[in-house]
Amino acid sequence: MHKIRRGDIVQVIKGRDIDKKGKILRIFPQVKKALVEGINLVKKHRRKTQQDQQGGIVSIEAPISLANLMFFCKNCDHPVKVGFTVLKDGTKSRFCKVCKEVI
Ligand SMILES: [Zn+2]
Repeated sequence: MHKIRRGDIVQVIKGRDIDKKGKILRIFPQVKKALVEGINLVKKHRRKTQQDQQGGIVSIEAPISLANLMFFCKNCDHPVKVGFTVLKDGTKSRFCKVCKEVI
């Protein structure tokens, strides 16, 4: 079970985009990286296609190391460490180590 999942809001704690927040779009567990909305943008040249008449240079997200990200707890309004717990019905769950809120 991973600490960070798709759809989570994370804050960047290291590197060029430090302190920025974004939503996890995709996770690459093999390389311990994630795509985060609006984070680690790189400019790419794109060819004109049927769907995309504009083409040209676009900004897209590049995967960023999970080590540079921290789960952002809306309750605490702060990046926090995530813990794991097993609920009464046996399902594994994550919780914020600061406010103990189940995520
Ligand atoms: Zn919290």
